[in-house]
Amino acid sequence: MTDLWTEALRGLQPRLGRETYDLWLRPLELLDADETRVRLRAPSQFMKEWFENHYLAAVLDEMRSRVATPPAIEIEVAIDMGTPSPVEPSVSVPVAPPAPGKPARAPAPAGLADRYRFDTFITGASNELAASAAAAVADEPGQRFNPLLLYGGVGLGKTHLLHAVGHAIHDKHPRLRIVYLSAERFMNEFISAVRYNQFDEFRKRYREDCDVLLIDDVQFIAGRDRTMDEFFHVFNALYEAGKQIMVTADRTPSDMQGMEERLTSRLNWGLVADVKAPDLETRVAILRQKAEQDRIGIPDDVCVYLATLVRSNVRELEGALVRVATFASLKGKPITEAFVREVLGESAEAERRSAPITVEAVQKTVAQFFSVRIADLKGQRRHKGIARPRMIAMYLCRELTGASFPEIGLRFGGKDHSTVINACKRMSSIQQEDPELRATITQLRAQLVGAPLAPR
Ligand code: ADP
Ligand code: MG
Repeated sequence: MTDLWTEALRGLQPRLGRETYDLWLRPLELLDADETRVRLRAPSQFMKEWFENHYLAAVLDEMRSRVATPPAIEIEVAIDMGTPSPVEPSVSVPVAPPAPGKPARAPAPAGLADRYRFDTFITGASNELAASAAAAVADEPGQRFNPLLLYGGVGLGKTHLLHAVGHAIHDKHPRLRIVYLSAERFMNEFISAVRYNQFDEFRKRYREDCDVLLIDDVQFIAGRDRTMDEFFHVFNALYEAGKQIMVTADRTPSDMQGMEERLTSRLNWGLVADVKAPDLETRVAILRQKAEQDRIGIPDDVCVYLATLVRSNVRELEGALVRVATFASLKGKPITEAFVREVLGESAEAERRSAPITVEAVQKTVAQFFSVRIADLKGQRRHKGIARPRMIAMYLCRELTGASFPEIGLRFGGKDHSTVINACKRMSSIQQEDPELRATITQLRAQLVGAPLAPR
């Protein structure tokens, strides 16, 4: 018999994607195999469990497409040599007393939310790479991806994964000192350390007394020179000592304006993984889990309906569920599709009304619509292909943003307020006789008003 295991893996690889495959399947070592049994060795207990929970079923399916009865898969765990601390619990022999000054168990990391753990994180195509990389980091801090940077839009689970890594490392490597904080807090502590002459303590906390550094929203320090400088030194000290660094951000390092080149390049040294908006299936799974956690009675088909209404981000999705559940219990009504429509219809409308539309958003939308550059809208060129879009943009700014004529002028490259007034007058009079222009403006207006949140 040819090697069924290898064949099954080969069949799976295209479906899983290269990264996932390299991360979770390739490290499994084939020890021996016959028709009834395949014996494997996983590098760690965590890798074994992750494989069993996420990929074993798929492997067995692959095998079933080749043989009637797939063999049993047995996985043993290699003795962890490379990890910084021995596996501790469930050892009956008392552990040798710790060396003086070195605690056997570091205190639980401060600032981690208890509910942000791996077992409450739902994976799907949108976040699979990020989640598996985070799990690998948690499993073997400092060994696999260093630094690990997760980036993506708001409310997509980056902070959740960062906390999950903190919890998992603490559970598995209780001796490691884990430091978690937001980049903003890092900056504030740094500033106050400088001001109150406590720089030594600061340095000790982040460079010496730290085995794992978890920093949330690192983009915050971009443009803040002294903080960037300090972070650079912290990064180097930890990195050189083989300590794990993990950060999240709302964009890639190269897109962080004002971030020092040497920091950008370091943030790119390890793995940069993105977190995207979840697909429908994942959104439904997240809703189900949340409903179960909070004991919210919501039928499956209503879950699906809700998940089709709220698409862009998980935080809003959770918020919508909570809102619906709160109203349902207040009114003593069951959660049905109609009920969801009733509740969210109102609040979605209110949200839209309260979300301000910005001058930038108008400029961007108009520029895209006419395929001109924003710089041209702000510039002086009078060519009709540019002057017309510019006037339309000014007109819509006046109508939708609440900005004054002088302010609009300022935001269009420092033009005089009379220019703006003229543009607005002309647009409203031409619209009367030009149905095409009217339609264009209506369409742009709809696009702007319908946008869930104006970009800042
Ligand atoms: P970000 O840091 O990317 O802005 P968060 O990590 O704060 O987003 O996530 C927002 C909310 O959505 C949190 O309550 C988090 O638990 C939840 N969430 C996001 N993604 C998932 C997921 N894949 N599974 C379960 N909950 C999720
Ligand atoms: Mg966050």
